[in-house]
Amino acid sequence: MQSSPVRIDLISDAQTRPTPGMRQAMAEAAVGDEQRGEDPTTNRLCEMVADLLGKEAAVFLPSGVMCNQIAILVHCRPGDEILLDERSHISSSEGGGAAVLAGATVRPLRGHHGIYSADQFAEAIRPSKRNAPRTRLAVFEQAVNRGGGTIWPLPTIEAVAGIARQHDIALHMDGARIMNAAVASGVSAKSFARPCDSVWLDLSKGLGCPVGAVLAGSAEFIEQAWVWKHRLGGAMRQSGILAAAGIFALENHVARLARDHDNARLLARRLSAIRGIVLDTPEIQTNLVFFDVRGTGLGATGIAGKLLESGIRIGCEDAYRMRAVTHMDVETAQIEEAAAALAVLLG
Ligand SMILES: *Cc1c(COP(=O)(O)O)cnc(C)c1O
Repeated sequence: MQSSPVRIDLISDAQTRPTPGMRQAMAEAAVGDEQRGEDPTTNRLCEMVADLLGKEAAVFLPSGVMCNQIAILVHCRPGDEILLDERSHISSSEGGGAAVLAGATVRPLRGHHGIYSADQFAEAIRPSKRNAPRTRLAVFEQAVNRGGGTIWPLPTIEAVAGIARQHDIALHMDGARIMNAAVASGVSAKSFARPCDSVWLDLSKGLGCPVGAVLAGSAEFIEQAWVWKHRLGGAMRQSGILAAAGIFALENHVARLARDHDNARLLARRLSAIRGIVLDTPEIQTNLVFFDVRGTGLGATGIAGKLLESGIRIGCEDAYRMRAVTHMDVETAQIEEAAAALAVLLG
């Protein structure tokens, strides 16, 4: 067990607590039966996200994982193959859901910080053969979680989309952090989403909501997504309580993501000055900082355990790799404190 309460929690941007303003918006939300289409607040959130992402329609879901899994279920039939980066959330952190639920196989590509090239993608597409799985879906993350928060450049997305279209392959964006990518790059979420057949954004990561994600696409795609939402038990009732948090976040918590990115860069600068620490990506683009601690003589869990004694929590990716995530509940001074604690520990 933890020896002291966590004061500075860098384990994930999912650790944010709803702010007083968000709680108030939730308390005052107009509600109805979501699955009958009668919850006005959920309907409004879906319209906002569809508009933000430039899609015809959107559906509110309990989590990002459900967005990914429903998109896979709509796009794929059993035996179909999904091309994605080897570091993707779908291959590492969704319990093999693509295989369990859709009967689809995943074929990981070795990209650079989670970004595969259009050439790599084109080469991986299976020829149409009786004994070959049908390549049916391509997925990418914006920004790439286990790629150190790297942003897929728009030209790469467009190049992959162009090839996908020629081969009748759908393109799905795991946009858990698409607003981080948009704020950091100055490219709108709509521009990033335009080449994609389906896209979602997470409300419970950097945007600071307690629950929820919104999946967007064509009206036909969302109609089919609704069937799966019911099948999987994701259809809700007075979900406006939760959707209100999402609306509040889209109105108040998007521009401030830039501060999280500044904090991540500050942390990376401090970490790179500590002997034995090597950053995964020297240039931090969004709010994720991955680093290797092999050179310090200590393992990741050892370091994490020591930090926890001072109330600082940082994640362990593997034996020598760690992940720190900045978010709205961590102030710049706390970033300095966490970095100083690491410097003392490893000094
Ligand atoms: C967190 C995350 C998910 C899953 O989202 P949940 O809302 O936690 O279910 C999917 N993809 C990426 C890249 C993520 O970081």
